[in-house]
Formats: sequence, C-alpha cells, structure tokens
Amino acid sequence: MLGSGSAGNSALIATDHCKILIDGGLSARQLMLRLEQCGVTPHQLDGVLLTHEHGDHICGLEVLCRKFALPIYCNALTAEAIRCGGSLNGHRNWRIFHTGAEFAICDIVVQTFPVPHDAVDPVGFAFHAGTRALGFITDLGYATKMLTQRLREVHTLVIETNHDEKLLQNDPHRPWPVKQRIQSRHGHLSNAAAAMVIGELLAGKIERVVLGHLSRDCNTPELALGTVRLLLEKCDKADMELHCATQFEVSPRFCIGATRPGPFQPTFDSIFFKVPTVASDKLGSDFSNRFRSATLPRDQSRDE
Ligand SMILES: [Zn+2]
Ligand SMILES: [Zn+2]
Repeated sequence: MLGSGSAGNSALIATDHCKILIDGGLSARQLMLRLEQCGVTPHQLDGVLLTHEHGDHICGLEVLCRKFALPIYCNALTAEAIRCGGSLNGHRNWRIFHTGAEFAICDIVVQTFPVPHDAVDPVGFAFHAGTRALGFITDLGYATKMLTQRLREVHTLVIETNHDEKLLQNDPHRPWPVKQRIQSRHGHLSNAAAAMVIGELLAGKIERVVLGHLSRDCNTPELALGTVRLLLEKCDKADMELHCATQFEVSPRFCIGATRPGPFQPTFDSIFFKVPTVASDKLGSDFSNRFRSATLPRDQSRDE
C-alpha cells in the first residue's frame, strides 16, 4: 500500500513480470517517491488500474500520465467521468474493460466486480497469480453476495475500515447529509461493517487482512484494528495476520505467493487490450470524440 486513507489512495501489486498501480490518488510527486521506496520507477509500470473516479483515487494521474504514457485500465463510465471532469483529456492509452470482466495483465489475472458506492461504475478486484490471490475492496457501502463469493478465493484481503460509527455520529464538523451519505448503502464500510465482511470470509482461504481508507477525523488505526481483532478472537482466528495501512507512509511489503520463475509467455488473454499500431491514432480520436459529446457527471473530488 503506497498510501491509504480518505485523503488519497494508491497501491502497487507486482510479480516478477508485472507491476500494476491500483489507483493514483496521491500527488504525482508522492506516487513517484513512494514507488521509488519500493524500488520501482514509473517506467516499469505495466499500467494503472482504477477502482472509480473519486479524487482520492485519481488526483495524481494527470501529472503522472503526462510524464509517463502509462496504460490506464478502467471501465468506460469511469474513463468518461474522469475526462468530463477535465482530467486526463490528453491521455491516449486507455484500456477499457466491462465491469464483471476477467482479463490478464502479463501474468496477473484480474477479476473485476461491481461494488455499491456513489461513483459512476465503481469496482473491486480479485487478482490471481500462480496459485494465490489478493482481494481489493475499498469504497463500498456494503458487501454484495457476489463480492463475498469472489473473495472467498483470496489469501490476502485489502478492505476499507472507513470510520468508527460513534466517532462519525459525534463528529461536529460534518453536516448531517454528509454523515448520511457515508453511512448509506452507497457510502463506506465502518469498522464494524468491515469486520462482518471479514467474518463471512473466514470459511474461505483468507490468511491476511490489510485495513485501509481510514477517515482522518472519524477513525484511528487502533479503533479499526481493535474492532477487527475482536471479531477474529471471537471466531477463534486470533492468529490471523492483520495490518492497517496509513495515509502518510508506505506499508510493509506483503508477500502473497510466488509465481513461476523464468520468462513470461504471453497468452491470448494478455493481448486482449493491444491495439493495432496502424489504427491506434484513429481509435484514439474516435474515443476522444465520444468523450467530448458526453455530459458532465457529478463532482469527482467529493469523497470521505
Ligand atoms: Zn475513496
Ligand atoms: Zn470513493
């Protein structure tokens, strides 16, 4: 986790053959600094994968992608919302997937699924490489049945513990409609709600949980960890590995599994997004024309 919290989110997943940034919600400078701390340069990235268009997930991408023409993987509505919000208008390297699709980026198979959150088409991910898998869900109001099923297969789970319910209710700075939005079925998971989701996954393959996207004012790592730890103790799983990612520093590196050594052999799946070079200019301009005619969506910077 390069950084995680209500003010900015980004994570790096990597195998020997592939490096993917999930979201780019820190400044480009911070993204580059934190990648460097992980021994990765932006040139080495195979792409940026987006969960949704809120500012705390995309704010560094405009500058980062102006410097490095990274492929951006997201669904069409998210791309449209970002471009209509005035960001990444000059960016040409979009790789659009349908929500629910499964595709490969090098040797990582990416499963996408919808999550309930107040963005145009927000998604969660399950990443499979070798025999191991990582689940990634931040920014969701509740866990759907389908999402829970997908996540039963993962060994490591990144999940948001956005707020402590009492701290949110008693927060003097947030107006009531904002509190209502955060608590709604299209808002964010509280510590208690996230603990319940984790509880439902204990019958699966899960062996490590990383908490993230904590609210700056309405949560603390101690409260989030404490709530989840209590649940794990109740379920006789007190020995499960548990971490809390923070906004201001890169988390430890979590090793989820090992992939086969040696050169990677591209499969048909991995060329799914490749655009023929001759036609790429035309495709690019068709794509941006389509975006120019689209209507302006909701405010992208708003998130808690
Ligand atoms: Zn967010
Ligand atoms: Zn959001």
